[in-house]
Amino acid sequence: MQISPSQIPPEVVRVTTGLEKAGYEAWIVGGCVRDLLLGRSPKDWDVTTNATPEQIQATFEHTYYTNEFGTVGVVNDDATDERLKVVEVTPYRLEGKYSDARRPDSVQFSQNIEDDLKRRDFTINALAYSATKGQLLDPYDGIKDMGTRWIRAVGEPKERFEEDALRIMRAVRLSAELDFTIEPKTEAAVEECASQLEKISKERIRDEFVRILNSSQPMKALILSQKIGILQYIAPEIETGMGIAQNQAHSFDVFEHNIRSLQHAADKDWSFIVRLSALFHDVGKPKSRRWSDEKKDWTFHGHDVVGARMTKKILENLKFPRETIDKATSLVRWHMFFSDPEKVTLSAVRRIVANVGKEHIWDLINLRICDRIGTGRPKEQPFRLRKYQAMIEQAMRDPISVGMLKIDGRKIIELGEKPGPRIGWTLHALLEEVLEDPTKNTAEYLEGRAGELLSLSDKELRKIGEEAKDTKEAAEEAEIKDIQKKYFVD
Ligand code: ATP
Ligand code: MG
Repeated sequence: MQISPSQIPPEVVRVTTGLEKAGYEAWIVGGCVRDLLLGRSPKDWDVTTNATPEQIQATFEHTYYTNEFGTVGVVNDDATDERLKVVEVTPYRLEGKYSDARRPDSVQFSQNIEDDLKRRDFTINALAYSATKGQLLDPYDGIKDMGTRWIRAVGEPKERFEEDALRIMRAVRLSAELDFTIEPKTEAAVEECASQLEKISKERIRDEFVRILNSSQPMKALILSQKIGILQYIAPEIETGMGIAQNQAHSFDVFEHNIRSLQHAADKDWSFIVRLSALFHDVGKPKSRRWSDEKKDWTFHGHDVVGARMTKKILENLKFPRETIDKATSLVRWHMFFSDPEKVTLSAVRRIVANVGKEHIWDLINLRICDRIGTGRPKEQPFRLRKYQAMIEQAMRDPISVGMLKIDGRKIIELGEKPGPRIGWTLHALLEEVLEDPTKNTAEYLEGRAGELLSLSDKELRKIGEEAKDTKEAAEEAEIKDIQKKYFVD
């Protein structure tokens, strides 16, 4: 495995050569080197150097301090790629002492790149590359571990997790993103140190959890998290679904069904909010399960309501933003809607659109698909779904009505007409013209034209108005037919 200097973006080369010209060493380091070797696109670019923060700042025009670890952001003002706007430069660091499994007590700088690679978390992240020298440093056999697809701690795994428990979450997150396995000795240490996660802030746990859900392998990662005992520090409620058998329609327990639903969202590359609500959609089932003697089966009445409440609590605990909490909670709350064909009438769809919001109604459909696939059924039930999709579009389209016009009844009264049926006839006549030619929908044109129409007799105006109404109804029907055609339903 090799990297060629041409793979390094000019914005990054500008930073490393800038440091070198000023007489310092500079290496591209960590995850970005890993990603290049794996043929992935790096999320951000990090550079490490023997220069001090002050010296880094003195070398470039536009910089700022980013944290207490000496990291300096070097700004590329002309970069168009968001990821290259800032290149983070950190002095070589020695691993400081951690007395709290959270943050080093002090940060010490070093003159050796070897020290800096030693403090890094995993072998595949302890890599450094110099575009100038064309040299790759790999002191812990990270490249070999890429071959076996292993996440392996640098040094003694247990010590490294005791220093910084966030590395536990990072191990699982990286395994999900890269589809790697945690090397057995590292995994055993993760398991042993799992309880240290208690010391890590909810926000940092949440950030890694989000990345797990957004990865390609969230199901595997959650099974692993459960097995090694860290799921209880993320959301223990997910775990309570284990061993909770469902009714005859389901082959999996609640836990497996939830994570299979989530995995389908990942397979489809659906949005974060769909993934999140897929994972939690049946979280209320263990609390709502009752045996029905009549059905000779389990029932879960109210699990959507209970689940929504639980989802809200879980996400609040993980300090998710209010908007995320509200969206996920509402999707969980209404996830049963499209499961029950009896419920799905056009007016009910209108109500559900109002409940979950126009911008999330398609997420609710996708959640329904995840739920179904997560049950183990191979098909997404295309016909019924298409029918629902058509109903949603129909429910959401703005009706053809005189309300679309840039003129209203009040204006016509201002123009001198008395309140009465003549106003409605006039508006419908105007609507017909606008349907024929939408460019006529301006206040100027319509007011002028209204003046002409109002000079007609009652009989004439009524005739035009009523014919126009028929045209409107025909136009409405045609629009609905178009939607149905689009989804191959009628
Ligand atoms: P990504 O950029 O995709 O999130 P990454 O591995 O690059 O993944 P960053 O947070 O960008 O993660 O960190 C950059 C590098 O810093 C890592 O590759 C690793 O070498 C080191 N690093 C980050 N966090 C830790 C940690 N908690 N302990 C030790 N080293 C770490
Ligand atoms: Mg990175």
